Amino acid sequence: MDHMEGLCVTDCERCPALVDSRSRIVNGVGPEDANLLFLGEAPGAKEDEGGEPFVGRSGSVLDDALRDAGLARADVRITNCVRCRPPDNRDPTSEELSNCRGYLARELELVEPELIVTLGKVPSQNLLERSVAITSESGSVVDVRIGDRSYRVLLSVHPAATLYDRGQRDGFFETISRAATLSGLSDSSDGQASLGDF
Ligand code: URA
Repeated sequence: MDHMEGLCVTDCERCPALVDSRSRIVNGVGPEDANLLFLGEAPGAKEDEGGEPFVGRSGSVLDDALRDAGLARADVRITNCVRCRPPDNRDPTSEELSNCRGYLARELELVEPELIVTLGKVPSQNLLERSVAITSESGSVVDVRIGDRSYRVLLSVHPAATLYDRGQRDGFFETISRAATLSGLSDSSDGQASLGDF
């Protein structure tokens, strides 16, 4: 029993543990033709409650980094590898990731982003299909083939990493600013000019 309408999964019972732990399916948000797409791991408690990815503490860090890069949350698409909250916020299993992968592939195919930013180890490993040492690989850009298409992917640490380790904050903000440039969204000269106005 799967159902996807456009970019939204409306019904799915492939992962029994997630069907038990979720209150709803959390689909991606943002423009359907976004140039820039952020990919997280799975919804947490706040996302499960609100029905939107990255609305908890990690989401505030992401929002701050976007603002710092001259972007608004509404300018970008934000989605997760797995659309249902895992119990006790555990990592999604490889089976759960693979159960949800077709939905992600379909979302990527429809949105066709210029750049995907993977937020953390789990989404990076899921897209690249290899193990990733995210702290050292953060900031690297790779091309990844999914279905019939190739996507440019920028690897990043998860925004929550900046909460555990303040030392990661500058690097995370720099990566998001680089994402704005690589996706063609940043108009840094305008940004600087308007900052000067205040
Ligand atoms: N962490 C994620 O990876 N995704 C969310 O939606 C929220 C927190």
